[in-house]
Amino acid sequence: MAQLNDHYLKLQAGYLFPEIGRRVNSFIEANPDADVIRLGIGDVTEPLPPAIVAAMHDAVDEMGNRDTFRGYGPEQGYEFLRDALASQAFGARGVDVSADEIFISDGSKCDTGNILDIFGPGNTVAVIDPVYPVYVDTNVMAGRTGNATGDGRFEGLVYLPVTAENNFVAPLPDRPVDLAYLCYPNNPTGTVASRDTLTAWVDYARANDTILLFDAAYEAYITDPEIPHSIYEIDGAREVAIEFRSFSKNAGFTGIRCACTVIPHELTGTTATGERIEVHGLWNRRHSTKFNGVSYPVQRGAEAAYSSDGQEQVGQLISFYLENARLLREGLEAVGISVFGGINAPYVWLKTPGSVDSWTFFDQLLQQAHLVGTPGSGFGASGEGYFRLSAFNSRENVQEAVRRFQQLVA
Ligand SMILES: *Cc1c(COP(=O)(O)O)cnc(C)c1O
Repeated sequence: MAQLNDHYLKLQAGYLFPEIGRRVNSFIEANPDADVIRLGIGDVTEPLPPAIVAAMHDAVDEMGNRDTFRGYGPEQGYEFLRDALASQAFGARGVDVSADEIFISDGSKCDTGNILDIFGPGNTVAVIDPVYPVYVDTNVMAGRTGNATGDGRFEGLVYLPVTAENNFVAPLPDRPVDLAYLCYPNNPTGTVASRDTLTAWVDYARANDTILLFDAAYEAYITDPEIPHSIYEIDGAREVAIEFRSFSKNAGFTGIRCACTVIPHELTGTTATGERIEVHGLWNRRHSTKFNGVSYPVQRGAEAAYSSDGQEQVGQLISFYLENARLLREGLEAVGISVFGGINAPYVWLKTPGSVDSWTFFDQLLQQAHLVGTPGSGFGASGEGYFRLSAFNSRENVQEAVRRFQQLVA
């Protein structure tokens, strides 16, 4: 008898994005001529920067030539890419991360889920609420939670609510936790963490022997020079934090797939016998056993994101999406909607007008304005009464969406 992992059965049946898809499809079936604009799922829309395309073409040509063909690469990633990240993504900002602390992978979604492999089953886990659903669901799958409660939470997880009332600053847990996920700039709220907030978290982690899982997928969107891009900009973070970086949202790699996880050598955890050992060695073992590396052309493309042309072109992409975010933010504020985020992130988080619940607002927006966004409650109980709009779209669509929004609310 093949027994299944019953923890999977605890997961909520209607995962957020499939439910959105169902509602949008049934609306389109009933209204085939409606011009529906989607500002829902966080996927980029603009094509790859030319410097990246050229590097990938060259790499494919190398693979087609006997003299330059390559088979399996190092599981941890090619030196050229790890070096580029160490010097450009980190070193250039004064952050000390060595190439051998960087593990190249096929995505941060995968890494933030897979990282749980190397942690024991008994850890207490904290998440910010609302939250990127991957952190919660992968802990459910790994058996680190109890059952779902009625409001979309799971027993056993420590939820840290962020709302307009606390200015979206993640409160420190009121009890010791072993693992804590932080995502800044934040998906879904589009808000950022100040240096003081991150310092408080690093101090908390050092005092409580917590490991911080810091997801920096959106760091390239930070425009405020006072906001840290990396958790390692905070003193002492190398002893308590893992950082996840992705090429998806900066270089447009959502379909190409490349990311990295940073595990500093100073980061340690405790074994069953009470010994402290480096986390790096376990992740290295996990990564090289269960993963066989990102394809060579993709890693060359990722490297090109850090060439001088690549940097300029990636910068233009980011500016384009941030301008969309500004148009959304200011367009909604102009009709009296409370708007958060959207300055250092490609997401705008708004309070639903008239304080209707998130799904009611979703349906109103779809039916009356033919716009699709994401209900805040889908990201967690504290997201109820909020709504997320993504800036990943064409300028024309964003401008049209703002017009329709204003008509709906006016
Ligand atoms: C998009 C996103 C990622 C990136 O995931 P990839 O698997 O690298 O595409 C990571 N974290 C958050 C919070 C995201 O929104």
